[in-house]
Amino acid sequence: MTARYSIFSLARHALGGHRGWPVAWRSPEPQPAYDVVIVGGGGHGLATAYYLALNHGPRRIAVLEKGWLGGGNTGRNTTIVRSDYRLPESADFMEFSLQLWEGLSQALNFNVMLSQRSYIDLAHSDGQLEDFMRRGNAMRLRGIDAELLDRAALERLVPPLDLSPEARFPVVGGLMQPRGGTARHDAVAWGYARAADGLGVDIVEDCEVTGIEVSDGRVSGVETSRGRIGADQVAISVAGNSSHVAALAGLRLPIETASVQAFVSEPVKPVLDRVVCFNAGMSYVSQTDKGEILLGGDSDPYNSYAQRGSITAIEETLVRAVAMFPFLSRLRMMRSWGGIGDISMDGLGIVGKTPVSGLYLNGGWGYSGFKATPAVGWTLAHTIAHDAPHELNAPFALARFERGALIDEAGIGPAPSLH
Ligand SMILES: Cc1cc2nc3c(=O)[nH]c(=O)nc-3n(C[C@H](O)[C@H](O)[C@H](O)COP(=O)(O)OP(=O)(O)OC[C@H]3O[C@@H](n4cnc5c(N)ncnc54)[C@H](O)[C@@H]3O)c2cc1C
Repeated sequence: MTARYSIFSLARHALGGHRGWPVAWRSPEPQPAYDVVIVGGGGHGLATAYYLALNHGPRRIAVLEKGWLGGGNTGRNTTIVRSDYRLPESADFMEFSLQLWEGLSQALNFNVMLSQRSYIDLAHSDGQLEDFMRRGNAMRLRGIDAELLDRAALERLVPPLDLSPEARFPVVGGLMQPRGGTARHDAVAWGYARAADGLGVDIVEDCEVTGIEVSDGRVSGVETSRGRIGADQVAISVAGNSSHVAALAGLRLPIETASVQAFVSEPVKPVLDRVVCFNAGMSYVSQTDKGEILLGGDSDPYNSYAQRGSITAIEETLVRAVAMFPFLSRLRMMRSWGGIGDISMDGLGIVGKTPVSGLYLNGGWGYSGFKATPAVGWTLAHTIAHDAPHELNAPFALARFERGALIDEAGIGPAPSLH
């Protein structure tokens, strides 16, 4: 923490009505042209701008955001970070991301409140436990931490968990990643924004991209609600709006869009110090630093661009959460909200080049992309700088859907229940 954020200056600003509080990032007018325009000011777009400016030499870079920073899925997710993937492509990508998470507060000089409180997947049958064993072994072979848990270990690690054999879906064991956990989602957007701004990136809020200029198969700029902006390279990083924005350049994506919801209860005393996921249908639970119980579940069962959700998904998420932790039935739910999940055909993201020269795409992460934020930023920045993928995002190319080279991790990322 720098001197300008010392405890004394915090107290002075608090008592002085926050007058003169230093701005975290500028609000520049958009310039007529940039070398690189990044569409979307969520964590992914901001991280891309930051690593592009940090790792790849001077460029004129702008991030264009139609609303406010972090107002999309970055500020709406359930904050889980982990790298407990089975297949080499996704495990290496997410482990690289987790390693970046582990140094992120220091790198950005901004506390993203990473809490490696562990992430536990519950198994409800011997077959599921065997599957977890294989995944755990695959992780350990790649140097990623994983521990298989029996019922006695679960009883010790998660005291409020219902382990009774009479349960409708009795818990037989689990798989834990001790280094998994949570991070403060909006702090991630703010931290990347402040650091990118410090490296000269123009972050332009309230600036919607309404058109993408393509001539002779090459991108040349964007139309926006604040006028035309020329650009040699354009990266689309708009999560739930991926299909709409890519269509502006004539691209049709293998992505479906559905609402994904989350819920918090009234705050209670510390009762749960891990993230726990029920896997007879999906529902996961953690406790926030404020004491709220935070719940997430599967996507809504139909396509939608609404940032709110259906009663069915609320009911299913809560039923499973109460099956895990019966004490939850005595808590009041305080808030629910929805984000727009961009779900690819294999449930993992698309990061790389498009058929349009100079146009890049990051999207399709559905409800598993928060954890990928640092790795997406790092590898997309590399792809833009070299006009070629980094070795870690090469398998995440859009072209994998043409070749049938899917990364089939459906049980670990969002279950692509829509297909
Ligand atoms: C309820 C919920 C729970 C989730 N839980 C988790 C979790 O626990 N762990 C995890 O890893 N992932 C989780 N996710 C997924 C994760 O939130 C996303 O994958 C990730 O945040 C995507 O980041 P982003 O920066 O691409 O998207 P966003 O934060 O959505 O940023 C995209 C930005 O693009 C802007 N935009 C859109 N169209 C335009 C346009 N035309 N012009 C300019 N700007 C535009 C939007 O306003 C938005 O700010 C969850 C998602 C939801 C909805």
